[in-house]
Amino acid sequence: MDFSTPAHVRELVTRVEHFVRHEVIPVETLSGATEDGLPADVFHTLRAKAQAARLWAPQLPPELGGLGLSLSELVPVFEAAGRSLWGPVALNCAAPDEGNMHLLHLYATEEQKAQYLLPLAAGRVRSAFAMTEPPPGVGSDPSMLRTTARRDGDHWVIDGHKWWTTGADGAAFLLIMARTDANTAGQSGATIFIAPSETPGIEIVRRIPHMGGSTPGGHCEVRLHEVRLPASSVLGQVGAGFSLVQARLGPARLTHCMRWTGIAQRALEIATQYAAERSAFGKHLSEHQAVAWMLADSATELHAGRLMVSHAAWLLERGEKARRETSMTKVFVAEAVNRTLDRAIQICGGTGISRDLPLSEWYEAARAFRIYDGASEVHRMVIARDIIKQYGE
Ligand SMILES: Cc1cc2nc3c(=O)[nH]c(=O)nc-3n(C[C@H](O)[C@H](O)[C@H](O)COP(=O)(O)OP(=O)(O)OC[C@H]3O[C@@H](n4cnc5c(N)ncnc54)[C@H](O)[C@@H]3O)c2cc1C
Repeated sequence: MDFSTPAHVRELVTRVEHFVRHEVIPVETLSGATEDGLPADVFHTLRAKAQAARLWAPQLPPELGGLGLSLSELVPVFEAAGRSLWGPVALNCAAPDEGNMHLLHLYATEEQKAQYLLPLAAGRVRSAFAMTEPPPGVGSDPSMLRTTARRDGDHWVIDGHKWWTTGADGAAFLLIMARTDANTAGQSGATIFIAPSETPGIEIVRRIPHMGGSTPGGHCEVRLHEVRLPASSVLGQVGAGFSLVQARLGPARLTHCMRWTGIAQRALEIATQYAAERSAFGKHLSEHQAVAWMLADSATELHAGRLMVSHAAWLLERGEKARRETSMTKVFVAEAVNRTLDRAIQICGGTGISRDLPLSEWYEAARAFRIYDGASEVHRMVIARDIIKQYGE
């Protein structure tokens, strides 16, 4: 085991931290200004500054304008970017674009890369990933996919109803998961299509009102009425949709953990500062054991989470599926981040609840992390199934 961080990664972490502290955090308070969060001019200026500072897209290969880091190397870099909810957006490594770029890089044809991946990598457009459907469609259970795509000559025609499609309003294109083989049930016979947003039949019904702050393009409900796409719109192979989803979700779950650890670490620092400066009952809060232990528990959980993320990233880099490890990591980090934010608010008392500090905003935003990319209960089910199967063997 080698826990050292390579020099080029350490140097990058320092520069990302500096950028987030001096460029991103000062504009955080503007994040409620529009329904996309930051005002458009602030958003574009931040991104231009990140490009000029050579911090753009650490996860992408250099030929796509990125910094070419491995998944393991991304762990501290994404945490540094994630110290603000807007850091990853500024660096073009936020969800859902980051996961979509990964998927397109792995499976898109040269023509698809030129049309969709290059502009996305350059930050000229945004994208969305449309899998989840309102009940009774697919949610936690992938086999419940109801959106269909039927072949019609050289085209496919998609009908369906999606929601929670993050970023769909204003995205240049959607990756749409649809069932292409009506005769197969369960987790086969599905395909991912790349659909330009202006394709007739794609209707953005609404941005779903939700807890947590604004995000570019919102979280949308989308109707698909006879959306007609050429056969060249298939991403990867017809029928391979679920294996592509797994290829996207494995690393994407880890990168979510990396970014959210940045917010949780910052919350711990804010709570520590408050506890060190504020007094009650004749001493600083930090000298009360109940408060000190909350700080210790948060630091310990974040440390454990980082090690779990690094280990799962290392397994994925070796070509292993690491289903159990990525599920364990997702459950643990999502819950540790939520506990850390909860403790930070508790330590800061009324100030923690107020909007004078960013803790309450982060607390609201982080709650969804225990649900998206697999609810904690579903990941526990995956882990338990694996353990029980191994016991049977
Ligand atoms: C902020 C946000 C952004 C999202 N972005 C996207 C996106 O960009 N694209 C996309 O396709 N989807 C997106 N989603 C959807 C997300 O992936 C789903 O919400 C998630 O998969 C859960 O599905 P569901 O909401 O239908 O919950 P359900 O399937 O209705 O489950 C509800 C609850 O039931 C429990 N449960 C389910 N199965 C089990 C089980 N086996 N054992 C025990 N308990 C269980 C869990 O507690 C779960 O939370 C997003 C969701 C949110 C909140």
